[in-house]
Amino acid sequence: MKTLIIGEVTNNELNSGTLEIISKVRELNLEYEVVTVGSSDVSKIGSDEFTNTYFKMNPNKLNLSSCANEINKLIVESNYELILSNSTYICRDLIAFLSVDFKTSPVSNVTNFKISDNNLTVMNNINGGESEYKTTVNSDYKFLLIRPKSFELEDIVLNENFQSNNINDDETSLDVFDVIIEEKTGPQLEDSKIVISAGRGMVESSNLSLIEELANKLNAAIGGTRAIVDAGWMPYSQQVGQTGKTVKPDVYIACGISGATQHQVGMKDSKYIIAINKDEEAPIFQISDLGIVGDTLTVIPKLIDNL
Ligand SMILES: Cc1cc2nc3c(=O)[nH]c(=O)nc-3n(C[C@H](O)[C@H](O)[C@H](O)COP(=O)(O)OP(=O)(O)OC[C@H]3O[C@@H](n4cnc5c(N)ncnc54)[C@H](O)[C@@H]3O)c2cc1C
Repeated sequence: MKTLIIGEVTNNELNSGTLEIISKVRELNLEYEVVTVGSSDVSKIGSDEFTNTYFKMNPNKLNLSSCANEINKLIVESNYELILSNSTYICRDLIAFLSVDFKTSPVSNVTNFKISDNNLTVMNNINGGESEYKTTVNSDYKFLLIRPKSFELEDIVLNENFQSNNINDDETSLDVFDVIIEEKTGPQLEDSKIVISAGRGMVESSNLSLIEELANKLNAAIGGTRAIVDAGWMPYSQQVGQTGKTVKPDVYIACGISGATQHQVGMKDSKYIIAINKDEEAPIFQISDLGIVGDTLTVIPKLIDNL
């Protein structure tokens, strides 16, 4: 099945979601090409192993409609049947344009897919991860939006072997008048081997200093539930879950987190899950490898002292 991967370049790099999709497509031995979109000055986003066309957007404009038109042409000219995309905001918008153009329904939040005898079967999560759907996609053009961290990342050697096209503005382009880039320090949620997340069971925001202390000892990234993000204890960029980030570390430590499905969907594929909660009936224990029934404010200091 001839495949086109739509990916994104952020901060001069191919983002990890794009690389995960490339890894999966290579595992399935599909014939594929990559198109990436972005507004960075990129260097190593191509490879000798795949063709990458970079659609460079004007950083002062949001011109997704013209970008979708270019990708549309590529799909028709090269006769791609399967179009796989990252679930970033930009790529979701692009797929919205393209699926209307091709009068087909995209499948979103895809966690896996397989092809046998040229038939495509897709698994996707809906209802905040409460239900998993298995569907066969029979349309001529098959658009899938892949959930981050769904596939194992292989080593992919990148170089400057790619073709770059500038995207022109059109009457639908929106002006970007300000860009605020969040400063990042310390281990990042998306790629840290250990993630420590806090929930309402940390009782009050000042107790997050315990999480920071533990994270420093373990060189871990810090996440949180939507409840504490909404309460202003932590920025949204650290939210784990359905409406936040998906993480898949080797170790995930959930501190005072009930384990609502909307939270689980962003962390349940972590390799080893440790939960600390004073309620032994808390749903987080159902997916934990190690459960500690106790008060976070007593257990975490003991952990810190013993590390
Ligand atoms: C559309 C939608 C999208 C959502 N997206 C997300 C998302 O992306 N991420 C997300 O996290 N949530 C999301 N939610 C919210 C989600 O449903 C839960 O409300 C949220 O995850 C709960 O956060 P929490 O576990 O911190 O709080 P709670 O559910 O209040 O749980 C707190 C836990 O702490 C325990 N506890 C209390 N005190 C202590 C103590 N001293 N020591 C030990 N344990 C203690 C309690 O027993 C309890 O289990 C979403 C909801 C909706 C409707």
